[in-house]
Amino acid sequence: MTPLPSLPARSASCPPAVELERVSAGEDVPAVSAHVSTCEACRTYVERLTHESTAFVSARPAERFLSQLETRATTPAPKRSRGLLVVSLASVAALLLVLLLPRIPSGPAVLFKGSLVSISLKRGDQVTALRDGDVLREGDALRFSVKSERAGHALVLNRDGQGKVTVVAPFNARAPQGVPEGTTVLDDSAVLDATRGKETFVTVFAPTPFDVASVVKQLEAGQPVTCTGCVVEVSTFDKP
Ligand SMILES: [Zn+2]
Repeated sequence: MTPLPSLPARSASCPPAVELERVSAGEDVPAVSAHVSTCEACRTYVERLTHESTAFVSARPAERFLSQLETRATTPAPKRSRGLLVVSLASVAALLLVLLLPRIPSGPAVLFKGSLVSISLKRGDQVTALRDGDVLREGDALRFSVKSERAGHALVLNRDGQGKVTVVAPFNARAPQGVPEGTTVLDDSAVLDATRGKETFVTVFAPTPFDVASVVKQLEAGQPVTCTGCVVEVSTFDKP
């Protein structure tokens, strides 16, 4: 595997590497872009990443490129930077909403859309944040970031238009992935096949490991996915 460029020494106020990678992948992250324009270390890193990523895109299938980004993204960011991360107005609004919500109960719970998972879509050379109402196609590659106030275990399931259920992140996992507090890009990407119809992605997070086989069975049966202590977010997209 060709390694991504190493992260240059940066100050405590610099955003985590994963945020810089999102910018280099073409995502619109205004607060991070603003920082990059004023910080030479971060700008250099994004430029190198963009350059190397372009090389990856031409040399590798989409899913390998995404795995590469994910591998890089799971390298722990400097601990201090998290609290100092500049957040956009939209993030502040989302944060306020979360703070105003009642505490997540210990039983099964369903979160507000977008509060647990964000999905990046790679189509051709373009990487965008997947939004409600977006339409998917064969060949689209998706990667999943989960966000949590505490460490835990997470996993994403897919149910395709034929009702076939696959654990997509981490791919074919028999146990959920351990995630630290904060935002984590899960291992592996889902690359969509030609099956048409509704594509449903179910993200499950729990403070302790949960039984993957039983959530797979629930989804196969078309039932709501629940497990003790889990929070679940369902994202559904058309794939005509
Ligand atoms: Zn910086």
